[in-house]
This record gives sequence, C-alpha cells and structure tokens, in this order.
Amino acid sequence: SHFKCHELTGFGGTLKNLGMGCSSRSGKMQQHSTVAPKVAEKFCTGCAVCLKSCAHAAIAIIEGKAQVDPAACVGCGRCITSCLTKAITIQWNESAPLVMRKMGEYAKGAVFGKGGKTLFLNFITQVSPACDCYGHADAPIVNDIGICASTDPVAIDQACADLVNNARGNQDTALASGHEPGGDKFRGVHPKIDWEVQLEHGEKIGLGSRQYELVRL
Ligand code: SF4
Ligand code: SF4
Repeated sequence: SHFKCHELTGFGGTLKNLGMGCSSRSGKMQQHSTVAPKVAEKFCTGCAVCLKSCAHAAIAIIEGKAQVDPAACVGCGRCITSCLTKAITIQWNESAPLVMRKMGEYAKGAVFGKGGKTLFLNFITQVSPACDCYGHADAPIVNDIGICASTDPVAIDQACADLVNNARGNQDTALASGHEPGGDKFRGVHPKIDWEVQLEHGEKIGLGSRQYELVRL
C-alpha cells in the first residue's frame, strides 16, 4: 500500500487497501454510500469543473448551479477536491467514521480464513495530502520515510501513522498545522477527520492490534 493522507479517512494505508481495494465494485459502493455531497448554491458559480471530475455522471448544471444526483453518486468525494469555491461539502462528522468502520469490516472479510498467509507492506513515500487515485499529486507533506512490513494490518497502519506524525512537516504544502515532530499531520491536512477511528475499529473487531514493536533494518 502507498501510505498517504486521505480526504475521507484521514490517511490511507493497509486497512484502506484491504477494505476498499479488495472489495467488489458493489462493496466499494456500499462503503461509500453514506457519503453524498451537497452543493451550497450561494458558493456555486456554475463553472462545471465538478461535472467533468465526476466519473459517474452524477452531477448536472441546472439553472446555473451544480446538482448531485444521489442515485448516481457513489460517494467517491472527487468532486469535493475539484471545486475551487469549496461549494461542495459532506457531513464529515457523521459519514467519515461510518465509512472507516465499514472499511474495517470489509478488511476483515478480505483476510478471513487467510491466517498466517498474509504479509502487508506500506510504502511511506510521496505522502500526498489527498488520495493517490487522482490524476494529480500535490506536494508531499513529509519527506520519504521508508517501507514498513508486518503481518498485522492494524499495527502496520498505526506504526506508519506514528512515523508520519513524528516526522517534521514540510512547509509550503497542504499541511496547515502540526508541522513539528509529534504534531498531527493528518488533522493538519484534513482537520475534520478523526483518522484514529479506522485503527480503533480494526482493533475492536479483532483485525489486529494497535500495539507494535518497530524494528529498523
Ligand atoms: S466546481 Fe464548484 S463552483 Fe463549479 S459548478 Fe461545481 S460546485 Fe459549482
Ligand atoms: S462524490 Fe464522486 S460520484 Fe458523487 S458526485 Fe462527487 S465525483 Fe460524482
């Protein structure tokens, strides 16, 4: 997994790649289904940039304002990052924790029955402020740290989150706060996302442990 920040889950690593990456198309949609963006009309200029960014034809410009069709929207969140006037928003406090919990359940399904046969690798390189599925990548918020390996999907993400947080944040990037070593880098980019939910839930459902021992090679 490429370890980076993420606009829905704070960060994306092994848990996200297991939960989202290993699920079926309908599984991905089920996980995202609680995320339906809304357009604040007073900020919308009708520029149609969001319409072009949506791969699911879920946005139309009606009477000069963007409108999202909830039936067609899969909740990918891409339109949110494309809107320069920040007219598109999500009720993050309600939906982001739910997405992370669903992600953990799907991740558990992905490894079910494969005990002792799974190994996870996280690449903490080019730590972008948003998901790496976009066609662009903003400047990394910390310098490259290295590669982590573990048989525990929760422990590896916890260790990577700690390594990123303990690094010095890069200036002149999307990182708005927490530049000092130990500062919360993920909230420094996505302040409304409680990224620890995915780790807490992963541990709670028996997917792994947040405790780890870091062995440097
Ligand atoms: S990108 Fe933003 S401003 Fe442009 S049409 Fe979409 S919601 Fe409106
Ligand atoms: S969240 Fe994704 S699918 Fe829904 S309208 Fe925005 S870009 Fe389209």
